[in-house]
Amino acid sequence: MTSSALQNNLRIGVPSKGRLSELATELLHQAGLQFRRQERTLFALCKQLPIDIVFLRTDDIPTLCAEGAIDLGITGSDLVEESGRQVDTRMKLGVGKCRLSLCVPIDSPIQSPDQLSGCRVATSFPNVTRRYLETNGAQVHLVSLSGSVEIMIALGVADAIVDLVETGSTLAANRLRVLADIGSYETVLIQSRQTRHQELADRIVRRLEGVVIARDYSLLEYNVPEENLAAAEAITPGFNSPTVSRLEQSGWYSVRVMVPRKDVIDVMEQLEKIGASAILETEIGNCRL
Ligand code: AMP
Repeated sequence: MTSSALQNNLRIGVPSKGRLSELATELLHQAGLQFRRQERTLFALCKQLPIDIVFLRTDDIPTLCAEGAIDLGITGSDLVEESGRQVDTRMKLGVGKCRLSLCVPIDSPIQSPDQLSGCRVATSFPNVTRRYLETNGAQVHLVSLSGSVEIMIALGVADAIVDLVETGSTLAANRLRVLADIGSYETVLIQSRQTRHQELADRIVRRLEGVVIARDYSLLEYNVPEENLAAAEAITPGFNSPTVSRLEQSGWYSVRVMVPRKDVIDVMEQLEKIGASAILETEIGNCRL
């Protein structure tokens, strides 16, 4: 790769390892960005588009985006907030949903954050944690770490921790309970305020929106008698509005509609109850709405 290519192309920062790495790469591939990471390299060129993919540490992506080193980046909104840097969040990517929670041992007598005054709190989110505890009237000693925070109480390093919680199984395994939730976060696409590639960035966003919406929705088709059409439309209002066509058989209609994938089974049951038939679910590969 030439240095001029690196200077003129739009750059997308993608996590080089960790739980987001594969998700981000897959999402970009689904959006039609064709690139391949050679082992241990930090750059990949996209075929057909003037785009470079830069593989970075997930927690450096907000800073590098704010500095203009990358135009777009995929990272966690928790890391954007912790960085305190000014970047624009272009879209939520519908994955990596988690909470940042203040946690204490299951049998701790502490009932509210202010009771933590004088205690030690371990976290890899010192800025967000400091702000939260100050607002909640707790003067604590912060122990700032880059990982394995969940074992710090057992190690005798802290009395409480602030950590990301997804399912809660890590907390349960370490006999911890949530004292308070500090925030809700997920994977996002961020954009630098210094980008010179606005048009191409908008194109990438439209492509990713197509993939993200397609992943969250199914296409449902069914037949319904005229007298229950209004009830059926109330059950399946669609993304914008359902497509309704008259069937050859008098008094019957066919409906095509997008339904959130997580609701499909429930919606099918509701439709069946009001007399709908031939209910079919089709996966949507990609879309533009
Ligand atoms: P869980 O046991 O599912 O509650 O997951 C908790 C563990 O996974 C913690 O150690 C977190 O640091 C990590 N974790 C959970 N969700 C995320 C996320 N969205 N991004 C990064 N790390 C996460």
